[in-house]
Amino acid sequence: TPSHSTQYLTVLHTNDNHGRFWHNEKGEYGMAARKTLIDQLRNQAAQKGHAVVLLSGGDINTGIPESDLQFAEPDFKGMSLLGYDAMAIGNHEFDNPLHVLEKQQQWANFPLLSANILHTDDKSHAYQPYALINKQGLTIAVVGLTTPDTAKIANPEYLGDLVFVEPAEIVESTVASIKASHHVDVVIAVTHMGHYHDANSGINAPGDVTLARSIAPNTLDMIIGGHSQEPVCIDSQGNPDTQFAPGKACAPDKQNGVWIMQAHEWGKYVGKAEFKIENGVKTLISYELIPVNLKNNNDEYVSEYIEPDAQMKALLQPYQTYGEKKLKGSVGFVDGYLDGKRNTVRFKQSKLASLIIKAQMSAVGADFGVISGGGIRHSIEAGDVSYKDILKVHPFKNRITLMQWQGDKLYEYLETVTGFPADSGAYLQYYGLSFNYVDGKLSNVMINGQPLDFNANYKMSINSYNASGGDGYPSIVNMAGYKPTNMTDAQVLKQYLQTHSPIKVNLL
Ligand code: ATP
Ligand code: ZN
Repeated sequence: TPSHSTQYLTVLHTNDNHGRFWHNEKGEYGMAARKTLIDQLRNQAAQKGHAVVLLSGGDINTGIPESDLQFAEPDFKGMSLLGYDAMAIGNHEFDNPLHVLEKQQQWANFPLLSANILHTDDKSHAYQPYALINKQGLTIAVVGLTTPDTAKIANPEYLGDLVFVEPAEIVESTVASIKASHHVDVVIAVTHMGHYHDANSGINAPGDVTLARSIAPNTLDMIIGGHSQEPVCIDSQGNPDTQFAPGKACAPDKQNGVWIMQAHEWGKYVGKAEFKIENGVKTLISYELIPVNLKNNNDEYVSEYIEPDAQMKALLQPYQTYGEKKLKGSVGFVDGYLDGKRNTVRFKQSKLASLIIKAQMSAVGADFGVISGGGIRHSIEAGDVSYKDILKVHPFKNRITLMQWQGDKLYEYLETVTGFPADSGAYLQYYGLSFNYVDGKLSNVMINGQPLDFNANYKMSINSYNASGGDGYPSIVNMAGYKPTNMTDAQVLKQYLQTHSPIKVNLL
């Protein structure tokens, strides 16, 4: 039994790290400054006698070449030094083969949680579903959840026998079974599902708001989220707070009695919620999104500069130095800007996609090639191109493959993949191919300017992600004529630039 009837808990949170262990070129965010800030917050809490938990809403992986090429080792080790108590497993934790995720679990001195990822056959948990954390006499249950969209957007090659089940039901049964055998003071869901205002998740799987609304009262006290990569700040009307900017006040969402919090992305902010717990009743006494060395448009820090922590810098510097050395130097030249923005590559045919597909076609000797637009993650600026620039475009280490098949089979395939709508990651980018697609009907298919012949043989380049069913593309990996290679998309683009530069954008 606790000695005081009134207790206090400070919940600190971040989400969607995406490889940002180091600060950016402008000196914003980074784990070293975050360490200084979190140490300060821990000291302040200790002086007031508050318990502290530090949680992450997941997606530690993918986004910064220096991190990606070291499989986020600096990020997981940095989080361990920061003293994270637990994190949610995000969809991007499946960007690498599962043995990499196992390695990451070893680098982390805290649990990677997900209660709704199960093995297909026996429905057993594939990952630790929850953690019980004891802080100053408080028992805090933390349950992890991962967006069921992971099954659609992550790399099917790596998902093996995993299934992503509906979160609400499993969180209720998990919390019930914890409560049956333990006294718990606070129940937190640490999720990677996205916050969608008023539960309008659009084409995405339902997120935190739907979860809060669909569970029995008193299942959860709060949700610490991620995935939609936004500062969750709500105005007095319950709408998204359009006034929020770094350094301004922020109030979290509250749905069905459950607080929902998210701290934007990349460690730009540390979220800090202080709760009073009195006779089992929790009151939120303060909330803040604390900027971590964020700058305004005049290149000035929006709040007092946070000196990076020396111990964290010493831990991370060797990874940063190694990464920089690997990535610097020019591998080619482009004479114009190649637009890889989301609003381009998921909506219309793009020159950058043409370059990428030409590189893949030439690597495997294909007649034409396809990729899904969502796989292009960055633009390329005019001028010298470094390997780092290429890895920003291609962070996923997908391998390039060749598919040889007959025109009739190919036509069936094209009927599906040409129909993926704009604005979806699946949207088809192609080269060496042309067609009409009107009212759901494919016609006039040409390969290299020649009408498709149902009896002829064709060679198509495609990456392993789409070939194995990524983005809902039909899986072709078990068909005759499928030949995987060990070359990654980034290696292939690098090689093409090395041998074909200068690239003339107008000729793509
Ligand atoms: P998050 O919010 O978790 O960072 P995200 O940015 O990946 O997710 P979206 O912006 O919706 O989410 O992008 C999903 C799209 O990214 C997929 O539809 C697919 O086109 C692409 N994608 C994801 N993983 C891979 C992968 N391993 N290889 C190639 N493309 C991928
Ligand atoms: Zn995500």
